[in-house]
Amino acid sequence: MSRAIVVLTVLALAVPPIFLILAAAGREVLAVPAFFVIAIYMWVWLRFRPSAFVVHHDALEIVWPLKRRRILRGDIASARLIDRRQLRDEIGLGLRVGAGGLWGGFGWLWTTRRGIVQMYISRTDGFVWIERKSAGPWLITPERPEEFLRTISVIVCAFVAILATSAFAQSPPPAADDPIGTLVSRLDLERYKATVKGLTQFGDRRQGTGRNRAAVDWIEAQLKSHGCTNTERLEYTYQPPPPPVPPAASTANPANPPAAAGGGRPRGNRTRTGVNNDPNAQPDARLRALNTEPSTPGPREEVYCTKVGSTRPDEMYIVGAHMDGIGWGEAANDDGSGTALVMELARVFSGPDVQTERSIRFILWNNEESGLNGSTAYVTQRRELRGQEQPVGSGRYPEPKWLGMIQHDMMMFDHGMPRADGTMSPDQRPEADVNIEFQSNSRMAPESQALAWAFERANEKYATDYPAAVGPHMTNTDSNPFMNDVAAISLRENERGTQIGSGWDPQWHKPTDLFATYTDKDFRLGLNAAQTTLGAIAGLTGATLKK
Ligand SMILES: [Zn+2]
Repeated sequence: MSRAIVVLTVLALAVPPIFLILAAAGREVLAVPAFFVIAIYMWVWLRFRPSAFVVHHDALEIVWPLKRRRILRGDIASARLIDRRQLRDEIGLGLRVGAGGLWGGFGWLWTTRRGIVQMYISRTDGFVWIERKSAGPWLITPERPEEFLRTISVIVCAFVAILATSAFAQSPPPAADDPIGTLVSRLDLERYKATVKGLTQFGDRRQGTGRNRAAVDWIEAQLKSHGCTNTERLEYTYQPPPPPVPPAASTANPANPPAAAGGGRPRGNRTRTGVNNDPNAQPDARLRALNTEPSTPGPREEVYCTKVGSTRPDEMYIVGAHMDGIGWGEAANDDGSGTALVMELARVFSGPDVQTERSIRFILWNNEESGLNGSTAYVTQRRELRGQEQPVGSGRYPEPKWLGMIQHDMMMFDHGMPRADGTMSPDQRPEADVNIEFQSNSRMAPESQALAWAFERANEKYATDYPAAVGPHMTNTDSNPFMNDVAAISLRENERGTQIGSGWDPQWHKPTDLFATYTDKDFRLGLNAAQTTLGAIAGLTGATLKK
């Protein structure tokens, strides 16, 4: 509440006790107006003064002690922060109809410029103006207007793709007073490259080998050195499944167009894809020796660390990539590029001056290449623990409620479609982009799509070089085991099913997936994906910088 409203409220609240004291002192007649005034005050408290503004996935809910109202997401055209002067410009002259003075002003504001405005304010500045499509605007004062706007702008822009003037859409480039812009500027190309390079010292990091375990240890040490010190490991056992039975003759109707994994239709030139299992395809003797130990079934570990939210430690976004690889190379792009991205984000968010309201878990999956076994083990072991406080009253949540899962898998190589002769352009194509995919065929498809659009918005605001594109066919990646429980998306150099599945990445699972294969333009695409996720997650978790 602002000072003027506090003064008015105190004066108003003083009236009934004064009347009651005078009544007790002999002027009994004053008891009647005293109780009458108390009744009015209670009516204002219960019916006029909202106790909360709650942003849901599908609506903004205004809560009073005795009633609720919802403004549906589709009905919100925009929401923005305005000050007292901007309010005057917006409404011209205003006349209040309703309760006022006590705790604020509630009810209808008749205005010369905008007609009737629904008004629920307990401050005389720092208003939130909500423009509706079906009816007149609302003027409200949520307790923390910036946070409120961030949340509501995500649901509004995510779903309706309208963002008039809210958080991600204010047009000036990230300024010094934009903490998210400051955080994004803490990413840089050379650091990102150095982290990818560090991962390649363990060769292809194939699951079930000493080089894979050494890589997990190295990643954990790096996370700790970046300040993400509360590392933990998920343990599980991996037994390879029996070899698949060869499929019977196809029963597909030849009249149907071919479908890619995850849905979608492959187009244009296609080349053969597959995993290289031939050691001699690796001409570098040192790397061949490094990758020689075969995978053994048995116990496995994968590492994660968590940025604990300051006000909502019980809710988190999961940011992941898989650290294992395959194919007798260095797994630099698949998935050193995603692993380095997650590690760099852990570094930035663990900065001593960085605070987030919600939690963020940074996780490096193992056993992706064998069939998403590491992420599946995580979902199996931990989905029932979501939101539980342990011990009760401690404020600690070993597995906070999941708000979203964002996977990063192959971030760097977007050289376009193979040519007709099967060769590839040696250069990153100028129209390269970050492909954000959700799975339209999942239980959480609407929420996942909304999350994807929030990432696209963050890309427009914070990514320096490459745009993002949203597609509906997320597949074959560690966000899939999550997609029926929580909003889940993947970020990638190309669409997984229709493009990578058609041979758009010739290094995929091949001995040529080496640090030295990629140019700075390739690494820069990975960096832009990092900027996209960092910007989006900082907004969604309410990141701020301590002064
Ligand atoms: Zn991968």
